[in-house]
Amino acid sequence: MHELVTLPIKPGAPQGDMMGEKVIVCEVGPRDGLQMAKTRMATATKTRWIAALAASGLPEIEVGSFVPVRVIPQMADTAEITRRAVLLPNVTIVALAPNLKGAQAAYENGAHRVSVPVSVSEGHSRANLNRSPAEQIAEVARIVTWVRAQPRRMEIEGACSTSFGCSFDGRIPVANVVRVAAGLAEAGVDMIGLADTVGYAHPALIREIVRAVRAEIGPKLDGLHLHDTMGLGIANALAGLEEGVRNFDAALAGLGGCPFAPGASGNIATEDLVFMLESMGFSTGIDLDKLIATREILAHGLPAETLHGQIARAGIPKTFKAAA
Ligand code: ZN
Repeated sequence: MHELVTLPIKPGAPQGDMMGEKVIVCEVGPRDGLQMAKTRMATATKTRWIAALAASGLPEIEVGSFVPVRVIPQMADTAEITRRAVLLPNVTIVALAPNLKGAQAAYENGAHRVSVPVSVSEGHSRANLNRSPAEQIAEVARIVTWVRAQPRRMEIEGACSTSFGCSFDGRIPVANVVRVAAGLAEAGVDMIGLADTVGYAHPALIREIVRAVRAEIGPKLDGLHLHDTMGLGIANALAGLEEGVRNFDAALAGLGGCPFAPGASGNIATEDLVFMLESMGFSTGIDLDKLIATREILAHGLPAETLHGQIARAGIPKTFKAAA
């Protein structure tokens, strides 16, 4: 049974009085969104899309993953995409890498941050990385050692996959999530995110796990990566927000999908998340009109994909007012 607690969004402040408080939204569409797509987006289109996303004010974009082409053909152009993306102004460019070789490629191509996934569940870890969680934490430690020895600074994020449930192992004991997060903190990463990789989380579970992990590693717990498989993505984001999380991954048009839930929508839709945040008075720095307009490039680049997202479908209401 989860403890039911209602917290003000910011302790001491009445809800709705968040004017100007910043929330960072990281667009993961070019990485998480595209890896499940049926067709490949042309490199030129991807470059144009990332530039348009950055121009809408997104402060962080995850542009691809450095994995073997045979594993994810969509990511074959990640090196070129990264090299171009880091030339864009005012945006942190993130690349995913599952191992040292990938992290080295991320560094060599100029990524500002590398995100390294570590599955909390044994089953997902074996299926996805062919390693146990402990072995993957050891790989992260090797990455940290290598990156810290380089002349340029690159941030390292540890991403705890399947923190809220797994399609192989089912429920994940909270202690296991805490153990992996603590292992990553020990390995020396700059920041740690919790990912609901398959989208099984619910708001009470978000609260429970965020609290438990924060009690162990403090402010190194940085962000949430949420999927909308069960339609609870935005509710889960709100629960995280209420727990003080100020950094969220999202994908334009809710792109993504989960290989273990055919037909399900993917990541939480960036447009919908930005709409909620700005409506509540949180400042994202993102121009919602410009963000929604980038769906055009996405639709053109991936004509076979279904675009999700409530705000784009309904239109921005007259009542909407962006935060200061
Ligand atoms: Zn994901």
